[in-house]
Amino acid sequence: MATPLKPSDRKPQEGAIERPPIRLLPPIDQCIAAAEHALGDYHLSRNYLKYLARQAQSAVREAIVRDGGEVPQSRAAMLELVTAQVRQAFDRDRPPLTAVVNATGVVLHTNLGRAQLAEEAIEAVTLAARWPANLEYDLASGGRGDRDSLIEQDLCLLTGAEAATVVNNNAAAVLLALTALAAGREVVVSRGELIEIGGSFRIPDVMAQSGARLVEVGATNRTHPRDFSAAIGPETALLMKVHPSNYRIVGFTSQVSLAELAAIGRERNIEVIEDLGSGALIDLSAYGLPREPLVGESIEAGAALVTFSGDKLLGGPQAGIVVGRRALIDRLKAHPLKRALRCDKLTLAALSATLRIYLRTRDLAGAIPTLRLLTRTVEELDRLAIEARELLTVRLGDEFQIAIIDSQCEIGSGAQPTEQLPSRALAISHPALNPDSIAAIFRRARPPIIGRINDGMFQLDMRAVNDPALFAADFPARLD
Ligand SMILES: *Cc1c(COP(=O)(O)O)cnc(C)c1O
Repeated sequence: MATPLKPSDRKPQEGAIERPPIRLLPPIDQCIAAAEHALGDYHLSRNYLKYLARQAQSAVREAIVRDGGEVPQSRAAMLELVTAQVRQAFDRDRPPLTAVVNATGVVLHTNLGRAQLAEEAIEAVTLAARWPANLEYDLASGGRGDRDSLIEQDLCLLTGAEAATVVNNNAAAVLLALTALAAGREVVVSRGELIEIGGSFRIPDVMAQSGARLVEVGATNRTHPRDFSAAIGPETALLMKVHPSNYRIVGFTSQVSLAELAAIGRERNIEVIEDLGSGALIDLSAYGLPREPLVGESIEAGAALVTFSGDKLLGGPQAGIVVGRRALIDRLKAHPLKRALRCDKLTLAALSATLRIYLRTRDLAGAIPTLRLLTRTVEELDRLAIEARELLTVRLGDEFQIAIIDSQCEIGSGAQPTEQLPSRALAISHPALNPDSIAAIFRRARPPIIGRINDGMFQLDMRAVNDPALFAADFPARLD
């Protein structure tokens, strides 16, 4: 611990007033000592104190440059200013990952972490985080176990597949499947399905990375079964179908169905795999939502392997799930890449708990937050909008106009990109602020509120807002 600084004991330097104040800026060592003195009770690490001191020093330097005569004219008073800035920097510093309000109108927003976990999944994560767990330990034999066994049986029950494995995300699942089954050989894919998903997942690139050679067939808008048949040769390892997820080809189109592809595969003795992307475990149309293909349907239609995400429509943690025939799953599990891509205990805890909800709960919309948000009625969203508007009016004052408007929102993450869900939003405007500035003010609130700009207006869509009470946020003091 450094000697406590007593700024008041110091005599202002002779002639300080005449000197340019920038020369009075305390050197970094004194700033660090001031930080240590001010925040000694917190026992902060040395590097963190240095970081706070540097921030404070440069804030004061900026103030000198900006305000010149307004800043203190003595070294001691300057040091006090630094100390105040250190405290401010410390108080303002928040953990880098923080909860935000998703008012974007995209329920499964990749940049906002996609699915919110169910309560049971959160409890399972906490348990696995806090205690030792039988992650790879067979309680019956006392020997080594397989972490996939924690989820395999449930995935098989839910999809009708023989076997299952899981890795970190669906991109990893596709990479693993292609590498383990087709490296050095050919994989045939329709040109209409060579998709790019946000965040640089592109089928041709993943294919190249796996060492498999992509054979494109058909045209962008139309591919026929004969295109696949003609492309099969001695080097063909797989036929692959990809769910186009985030786009649709409309008009004069035709794609080869999975059943047709499977028939060709059976005839020519070639396996067919499908990347389903979102992959629903239940029929969403039963909940009044647009229908997404079911994983179980793909298995039934003859896919040897199906890959899909854990944190899209399934509503679980980020994970890449592969279900399918035992022999192929075993080859994936035995591949060295599986070891590099395997999930940790927290993911497996959350995924297992989520799958068990699907098996043991009738009221899925009540238990799985993603489904709960997607199945909210417009009347409910209307009530949320009214409550949110009241809270925001109090927070923001009269200068802001807040109107409740009809809105359209999306499921997100590539599920049904052309299908919009009806929703309600608040449109927020201000006579002196443009939509971007209003958006920035909301991002600086605590918790940060993430809206969207639509039709030249800043909007807060209610569909994915868990609780309008969140709009009682602390807004930055200066609103301009
Ligand atoms: C979303 C998606 C992926 C990528 O899945 P991640 O879990 O984000 O890695 C791959 N393929 C399709 C078809 C998708 O929709």
